Amino acid sequence: MKDKDCIFCKIANGEIPSTTLYEDEDFRVILDLGPGSKGHALILPKEHFRDLNALDPAVAAKVLPLAAKIGAAQMKALGAAGYNVVQNNGTEAGQTVFHFHVHIIPRYAGAPKIVTWTPGSPSKEELAETGSRIREAL
Ligand code: 5GP
Ligand code: ZN
Repeated sequence: MKDKDCIFCKIANGEIPSTTLYEDEDFRVILDLGPGSKGHALILPKEHFRDLNALDPAVAAKVLPLAAKIGAAQMKALGAAGYNVVQNNGTEAGQTVFHFHVHIIPRYAGAPKIVTWTPGSPSKEELAETGSRIREAL
């Protein structure tokens, strides 16, 4: 299914031009217009899925191998020292386009960290309680 109001549906299916790195029957991989670093790419499925929880498992199974292929090419072509794979679900998690996509963000030696958090220090009891709540929801 496509969503006629979705910009990533239009880009993924070639109705809106993009800098395309790779295309097959399931995906288009493009350069992000607001890159976190040089070469920042987005993997877009051609079908519309709102987020990871809506993603067809058969499509999902192909995403990480494709991410590895793109990341390896970024390192080879651009001299990146590594890359981050980022995927946001929900507004509070930073999702701004509600068509599932994966960010592949090259990382260069000496450049500032892009994906960071401040580590917390939960007690053993808190970890156990949090773990139990999540397990019960699976
Ligand atoms: P999100 O915040 O939803 O995980 O990521 C959306 C990403 O899409 C952002 O990094 C933003 O720069 C990128 N983006 C938004 N609109 C366009 C567009 O029209 N073309 C391209 N190439 N990237 C876009
Ligand atoms: Zn879409």
